[in-house]
Amino acid sequence: MPRGVNLLAVSKGFKAEDIKTIYALGQKHFGESRVQETLYKKEYLKDCKDIVWHFIGRIQSNKIKKIVQNFDYIHSVDSFNKLIKISKMAQEFDKILNLMIQVKFEEDPNKGGLEGSKLIQLWDDFENLENIRIKGLMTINPKGLSSNQNYFLFNKCRELADELNLTDCSMGMSQDWREAVHAGSTWIRIGSLIFGERII
Ligand SMILES: *Cc1c(COP(=O)(O)O)cnc(C)c1O
Repeated sequence: MPRGVNLLAVSKGFKAEDIKTIYALGQKHFGESRVQETLYKKEYLKDCKDIVWHFIGRIQSNKIKKIVQNFDYIHSVDSFNKLIKISKMAQEFDKILNLMIQVKFEEDPNKGGLEGSKLIQLWDDFENLENIRIKGLMTINPKGLSSNQNYFLFNKCRELADELNLTDCSMGMSQDWREAVHAGSTWIRIGSLIFGERII
């Protein structure tokens, strides 16, 4: 893997035993998108103390408390309101949360995310919140794009992150991680390439 690219093993929909297998090979960072599912897995894996849990799913406001309590990273912060709530909750639990702001560069009604121009407009407010560290941007490309189109959108994400002086770009999944790495991804989020076909 190129230098500076981190691997997030996306274990959503896969069994806790499978996580244990991958953990035993040295993988520490795991991505989940449902809170309840993660709680079961954390209970099963409580001896694997150095697992770092990343939340990558759509954030429902009423789940923010549990997300803040149970995760170290959130990749899918897609509104200023949620960011404020995360910051308040993190203060309550005396915890520092590492965050990525989810951005979208192409209209896609199935996906969350702020538009780049909106983020730039709000950026001063984003930066001044307590108990959060905004590490970078996250993006999910629409399905079915060509390799060039994928690269083009990932590159826009990298440029925006650079403009905001952010180190990280969480981009690239099993189907499009090569283009993402080429464009400067620092976190690729890989599920099915590691764990096989997802059943749920
Ligand atoms: C499921 C998921 C992934 C992993 O997808 P694969 O195609 O299995 O690699 C990555 N990112 C997000 C946000 C996901 O929901």
